[in-house]
Amino acid sequence: MIDAKVRTNVLRAVDSLKDELVQLVCDMVRIPSVTPDTAVEISGETRVNHVIKPVMESCGLETDLWEVEKGRANLVGIWRGKGRGRSLLLNGHVDVVPPGPPEKWTVAGPWSGEIIDGKIYGRGSTDMKGGVAAAVFAMKALLKAGYRPKGDVFIQSVVGEEHHETYAGTGAALQRGYRADAAIVCEPSSPPHRLSINTASPGLVVMHVKVKGKAAHISMRDELIRPGGRGAAVGVSAIDKVFLVYQALLKLEEEWGQTKHHPAFIRPGHFVLFPTVIQGGDILTASIPEECTMMYIIWYPPQDTAEGVAEEIQAHIARFAQTDPWLRENPPEVCVPLFSLPPFETSQEEPICKAAATASEAVFNRPAILYGSGYTSDAGFIRQAGIPTIVVGPGNVESAHGFNECVDIQDLLDAAKLYAMIIVEWCGI
Ligand SMILES: [Zn+2]
Repeated sequence: MIDAKVRTNVLRAVDSLKDELVQLVCDMVRIPSVTPDTAVEISGETRVNHVIKPVMESCGLETDLWEVEKGRANLVGIWRGKGRGRSLLLNGHVDVVPPGPPEKWTVAGPWSGEIIDGKIYGRGSTDMKGGVAAAVFAMKALLKAGYRPKGDVFIQSVVGEEHHETYAGTGAALQRGYRADAAIVCEPSSPPHRLSINTASPGLVVMHVKVKGKAAHISMRDELIRPGGRGAAVGVSAIDKVFLVYQALLKLEEEWGQTKHHPAFIRPGHFVLFPTVIQGGDILTASIPEECTMMYIIWYPPQDTAEGVAEEIQAHIARFAQTDPWLRENPPEVCVPLFSLPPFETSQEEPICKAAATASEAVFNRPAILYGSGYTSDAGFIRQAGIPTIVVGPGNVESAHGFNECVDIQDLLDAAKLYAMIIVEWCGI
């Protein structure tokens, strides 16, 4: 239970800082900080961290800003608790994905940081400059209200999340010693509800399936499909064959909806085999397509491993290939995992989940909502480093990476309140 007077004072302190919080988010959004390998300019991440640094310092946090690569600096705000409380890490990234064609931003420009109807618009407002700013203002409000956390609090504002450069961002910050007894990744955690507490996320694997055909002149198509035609003796369309494998994987996905579960994921069918690219044939050679490949993104449950899931899919395709004379002789090549991201899982019985639930009840006056998140984030890497981790933050994932990305100002305030209450409950004051 959080003391009623502390609660009132802290929530009021956050409300009193509303304008400053909004200003910080707008300032951050107005700096294009696209992940460098897709951007023209590489210094955006650093410039955002230079905007946050004085705000951290203005409320009494120590700061550590260091360059990991030329033009790319991480920032950590540090509160050294003097009372032997539990320590807490709040983590967020300042890089963003490219905005796409500016004309698709029909409400406000991608770097405008414009406020319309209580929402701040721009690339990164939800994912996730808003979350980083809310974490800073949670500390600012606590200190303004006169409360000093007993445990250490670290706010990591890192580079390189969107392209999984953990070595440069979160991984580098952990290695530099900014570790704690528990961590909150401040990524947007709605849906299903505003600021739901995510205690798990799926893992991700990228897979390629290559199916071979047999090239022949395009005029031979009838030989392939006509009853009594000479079929494979003449040619085989890799596109026709790839769709057989596609159907087989669709079946497996359907099966996963029944067989793959995790207690944090209430809705069924969350773990999927998602075909993202199909490529085959060549208009210039005017031949029956000799090769076709499919790329899949696979979301698997936190209790499974990338290797286990890869074996399962390979076995499924191999079994299916036995049912087709061509595929039996020319088995599809499955390349997996080409790329993978770790899942994370923190038992809802863990003290950090309980502390977050207590804090959430104090802010929203209703039972806390604990849930599995649909996406991977740096939470996977922090959990791998042995730190119990949750994901909770302002904004809606549906808005992230899309056009007209925006974050609700009320969400920012509520996130700052929630983080402040978690610090009270977890670190002590
Ligand atoms: Zn993000």
